[in-house]
Amino acid sequence: MVILRCRFLTINLAPLRPSHFQSHKLHTTRFFRTPNLIISTPRITSSSSLPTSRSISDEARFARSVLFIPPGVEIEELKDDMVLPGSNIVIGPFAGHSQIKQVEFVKSSARARDCPKDDLPEIAILGRSNVGKSSLINCLVRKKEVALTSKKPGKTQLINHFLVNKSWYIVDLPGYGFAKVSDAAKTDWSAFTKGYFLNRDTLVCVLLLIDASVPPQKIDLDCANWLGRNNVPMTFVFTKCDKMKAAKGKRPDENIKAFQQIIRENFKQHPPWIMTSSVSGLGRDELLLHMSQLRNYWDQ
Ligand code: GDP
Repeated sequence: MVILRCRFLTINLAPLRPSHFQSHKLHTTRFFRTPNLIISTPRITSSSSLPTSRSISDEARFARSVLFIPPGVEIEELKDDMVLPGSNIVIGPFAGHSQIKQVEFVKSSARARDCPKDDLPEIAILGRSNVGKSSLINCLVRKKEVALTSKKPGKTQLINHFLVNKSWYIVDLPGYGFAKVSDAAKTDWSAFTKGYFLNRDTLVCVLLLIDASVPPQKIDLDCANWLGRNNVPMTFVFTKCDKMKAAKGKRPDENIKAFQQIIRENFKQHPPWIMTSSVSGLGRDELLLHMSQLRNYWDQ
């Protein structure tokens, strides 16, 4: 399933496979703020329906086995260089100015209703504790101290808003799966972060961070499935892709492949995904470009 949000509606382009989510509501219209609007549905599709074109090379078959094709891109126009390296993301006409020139911490909120009310689009960053979230935020904004704010005692369980270029927000969400916190604290995380996802109309997309240096983790898959079931648009951002194979472990690309295979069983269409490393800067500019196209589409 691929979902895109624009300012007035959410477009849910493909149902989840019923065998996995039979008991859950599909195709909710929760975000349709203007129900009478006539919608021109943008085309998002998987490459399984692509014509066999020579413009897509064999070497890239795995990375492009399921493409994220944004609004404004015709399948027939697809070329290799439209796909961001290390991702399944096609860049389309909504991609634009993406670099971060200015960033400022705005506030920490305990509930969705306490978050900024200025209606600016926001992209939230979520992941298991230690996944590399702070490192990625600092890498994106090219400042060492930005995400540290959320690591200060008392702020770790809060929703932290950073205003970027005075026009959109990066939202640092509490990490899940803390090894050292009590069950009660874990439940708190669920309740309040889920409240944010379900009630935040200005949320353009969630970047769900997945540690590529370890095999697929149930807690990450549960999180992805929950977001999918609740029509929250997400992009998988694989972190630590620079890490070499551990003694007995698998390489990042093998872990990513295993994760994708499980996701493919649960999602009819694969969400966008991208490989990154905060150490080498891999995927940084590409991720920013993808974020710009999601934002600009939302803002149209
Ligand atoms: P957070 O708890 O999700 O905010 O994770 P941190 O950003 O604090 O990172 C957790 C650990 O992973 C730290 O030891 C980082 O140095 C390390 N780390 C984070 N990103 C990367 C990366 O891209 N590559 C490598 N090799 N290590 C990373």
